[in-house]
Amino acid sequence: MNPDEVFTFSLVLCDNEVDRDFERFDTAALQELACLFTGKTGLFNHSMDAKDQTARIYKARVITYSERLNSLGEAYACLSAAAYMPKTAKNADLMAEIDAGIKKEVSVGCAVGRLYCSVCGADRKKGNCSHTKGKTYDGKLCHTVLGEPLDAYEWSFVAVPAQRAAGVVKKFKNKKEDYTLEDILKFLETGEEELTLNRDEKQALTEKIKELEALAGEGRAYREELTAEAVRLGLIAMPQIGSDSLSAICSRLPLGELKELKQAFYQNAQKSVPLKPQLKPEPQKEPAANTDYQI
Ligand SMILES: [Zn+2]
Repeated sequence: MNPDEVFTFSLVLCDNEVDRDFERFDTAALQELACLFTGKTGLFNHSMDAKDQTARIYKARVITYSERLNSLGEAYACLSAAAYMPKTAKNADLMAEIDAGIKKEVSVGCAVGRLYCSVCGADRKKGNCSHTKGKTYDGKLCHTVLGEPLDAYEWSFVAVPAQRAAGVVKKFKNKKEDYTLEDILKFLETGEEELTLNRDEKQALTEKIKELEALAGEGRAYREELTAEAVRLGLIAMPQIGSDSLSAICSRLPLGELKELKQAFYQNAQKSVPLKPQLKPEPQKEPAANTDYQI
């Protein structure tokens, strides 16, 4: 198979976080699972019918994040895998979904030698201790710890995974390929899984943020100027309101409405006193709009 006939992607199979079933793998188990899952075939929706829609794991390793803790206060660790599947017409939709981050949930099937209580360490295979998983004892969530994996049967894309963080890790390719700043921003808006950026992408994002900050600064200055002018005119047009109330009203308005309000105040103010405007007045609109702002 040529490299360009193969579609590769990375995914998180499982981690050391407590899952929805109040179970978790201990970190040693993750290491052993890395060996057991290498070479294993993945299914989609646990279905064997679509035999051509399978992917194979060619590499798996445990990644430990020393700066990120799981809910137990331990360093977060996950089993990250790289998988491939043939690029075929039948797989086209699936590959597009993986690329778009849609087919992102993964569940794993494996056998473990040890199931023990997180509170007292009692062997769950031999019967229950006094602790119930899902309940909290002395501020600690009781769960079942899975250790000593014996075999890994399968991994599968499913709609709702038991392991919260498991999923296809969105792959951001190098600059030479498709991912632009726009793609990254779109992903930040819609993606739920973790995002890893390379150096170029980080730089592009940082530059964009700086650019937006500069624009925001200009916008704020313009808004302050506009507010001050609207309050000044408002005090002439409607002296009974008072500057604090006027400022409060102005601060709540979107920019477009603030401009309209200032214009309305200007027209009303001109009726009471002929104004020599500090700012060149905008073209006058029909005075009918004034009634909108009468309080
Ligand atoms: Zn117990």
